[in-house]
Amino acid sequence: MSSNATTIKGIYVHIPFCISKCPYCDFISGIPPDENIVEQYFGALKKEILIQSNLYNLEDCETLYFGGGTPSLFPKKLEEVFQLLQRLCPKIQEVTVEINPQRNFNPSHFEFATRVSLGAQTFSPKYLKILGRTHTVQDSITSIKRAVAKFKSTNIDIMFALPGQSPQEHLDDLKRAVDLGANHISAYMLTPYEETPFGKAVKKGMIKLPNDISKFFEVQKFLEDKNFKRYEVSNFAIPNFECRHNLIYWNREDFLGFGLSAWSKIGDTRFSNTKNIKDYISKLSENKLPISFHESLDVHRKIEEIIFLGLRKIGEGIDISQIQKFLDVKGFLESALKRFGKFLELSADKDGNPKFLRLKQKYIYYIDAITVELMILAEKYMDLKTNG
Ligand code: SF4
Repeated sequence: MSSNATTIKGIYVHIPFCISKCPYCDFISGIPPDENIVEQYFGALKKEILIQSNLYNLEDCETLYFGGGTPSLFPKKLEEVFQLLQRLCPKIQEVTVEINPQRNFNPSHFEFATRVSLGAQTFSPKYLKILGRTHTVQDSITSIKRAVAKFKSTNIDIMFALPGQSPQEHLDDLKRAVDLGANHISAYMLTPYEETPFGKAVKKGMIKLPNDISKFFEVQKFLEDKNFKRYEVSNFAIPNFECRHNLIYWNREDFLGFGLSAWSKIGDTRFSNTKNIKDYISKLSENKLPISFHESLDVHRKIEEIIFLGLRKIGEGIDISQIQKFLDVKGFLESALKRFGKFLELSADKDGNPKFLRLKQKYIYYIDAITVELMILAEKYMDLKTNG
């Protein structure tokens, strides 16, 4: 019986195995899928789920997301995990599996899923090679067509601002994704993470990334003409096909993460599992949770999180009701609009009270800078509230 009154809305399950490691990837992934370690890993994963299900009530959980890594390498094992979770979480409605495109992708191996997310990344052979991806354009096309025919919702991951890429080439990728019938598109800017081979090559000047990012965001307007809505800075969906699981993160609802390096959020507490697979398996073999990091958000970190996640929800924005008890909202909003009014807009309720502060669509590529500025400003108006 659960001893914790929190309402878990979503579950993330991390599968860290991949056939090879892509040079730009900084996820905890790319572990070779040797049979022995895969067996041990899934055994540990099930044990972790059972231990946590004794601590938390999972009955109201709505979503399950298998991410990685490459979960699609293990359809039978995912189904076993799904069956276990289905018993614990009878209200799950959305089940997503990340799929690596491949010519022999068989959707019927994933009957338990309602939604798949295909890592196509680009439809250009040239850029697939630059990204070090092992799949081909034809692999993506075949996989997407089969997914669209089978699942309620199909997401396609597209990367942009690739070395040497023009905005027009990014637009070509988006057009292809729409033509293939996706109802959700995640468009991520390539980030040269320092510790990756790709990041190191960028640092040494061996690879050059495009300078003017704004043009890439501009061509994404094409998706709006095709009835997609940008509901988060990197995510577009046909209305009613938004990813409920991701909304749990952006709405700051509670979720549990299982597997290597997985994060959980319970109220104002965040914790994550070890990144070392041997530790992960060995801890669980002793019936211990493999948690290696734990933090409780103080009011400062909480405001930062509300601003960071709120601004990302394009079209909605920062929910003023979430911050008003912590800071002098009137002063904060006046100052924010005076200094950054060109980039921001404020919506009001029917009585004229401020409701949401959001970034104007046309300045979306300034999101990181505006986020930092608003966090600094919020800090100032938090002190004013505390000091009367
Ligand atoms: S397949 Fe995906 S998770 Fe695996 S290394 Fe490549 S980008 Fe990372």
